[in-house]
Amino acid sequence: MISLEKLVRRNVWNMKPYSSARNEFHGEASVFLDANENPWNTAYNRYPDPLQIQLKERISKLKGVETSSIFLGNGSDEAIDLIFRAFCEPGMDCAIMIDPSYGMYEVCANLNNVECKKVLLNSNFDLDADKIIELDDNWTKVVFLCSPNNPTGNSLNRNEICKILDRFQGLVVIDEAYIDFSSQPSFLSELDKYPNLIVLQTLSKAWGAAAIRLGMAFASPEIIGVFNKIKYPYNVSKPSQEAALAVLENEKNMREELRVILYERARLEKALVEPPYMFKVYPSDANFLLVEVGNANNAYNYLVKQGIVVRNRNNVTMCRGCLRITVGTPEENKMILNALKSIP
Ligand code: PMP
Repeated sequence: MISLEKLVRRNVWNMKPYSSARNEFHGEASVFLDANENPWNTAYNRYPDPLQIQLKERISKLKGVETSSIFLGNGSDEAIDLIFRAFCEPGMDCAIMIDPSYGMYEVCANLNNVECKKVLLNSNFDLDADKIIELDDNWTKVVFLCSPNNPTGNSLNRNEICKILDRFQGLVVIDEAYIDFSSQPSFLSELDKYPNLIVLQTLSKAWGAAAIRLGMAFASPEIIGVFNKIKYPYNVSKPSQEAALAVLENEKNMREELRVILYERARLEKALVEPPYMFKVYPSDANFLLVEVGNANNAYNYLVKQGIVVRNRNNVTMCRGCLRITVGTPEENKMILNALKSIP
């Protein structure tokens, strides 16, 4: 059993959530002179709901998670930053992250003056739980896992993740930004079993709503309560809350686009391993492929000249010679396949 009090920074533990006059008010009222807003009614003159209740209720239904176990933020990047600010004492505590993985964990660690302990994935880009558990100590508050992992595309071994959840004394974050593309089930179903689990998801990928900036963190009500103490009061704007509700109404559209993306992912992968390409393509559970093209810098520059931008991962650990290519529309995928035929 984890002790949340031992994991939370002392100053944060002692804080109360920001409370606006409008939160505190109970009853009927039609005149609001409490928040120094402009009184003339437009779509935007009032502050948005700081706890995003309506949106959380929708997400609760969709995901089968209680609203008290949901935090919503300005992208999942906000949740990543809040995890450091809530649990890691600057200049003292550490965080564990896998390598290679999503760069924001290290950026936020550096920003918050928190030491990163990086654990190299094995040659299949998979996880060895023991290597993480052996780094556990009183100062190591959190481990970041990303499954499916960015930039490698694979899902991490579920048994190894469970071993970490069972034995690691700190918090275990599983970033599931790409879960909708995955053949593996989400860890949301394990929230009740593991009080140290935080699952991150987002509307930025399969839901097609990166511009809205809506990230979700799912965890015990106690952990969510800690986020609510330290988040900016109005961290998700009214246009974002409304747009997110509209996007979530259209699950059918998302499922249809997802179907095409998965079909195209398989088609791209099959084409790229065959002549004339003969590239190594790593198995992907996400909406991108990590492709070993040989001279990645050259290929990247050539593609840019053709008006196609991909992500050059040549300088990333274990990804020498690799490009990360997002699965696009069928037409876009045709274009990149054509362009890749003629790299000089
Ligand atoms: N996690 C991973 C693994 C990602 O790849 C990304 C975006 N590239 C994010 C989180 C951030 O997502 P959001 O748009 O919700 O901030």
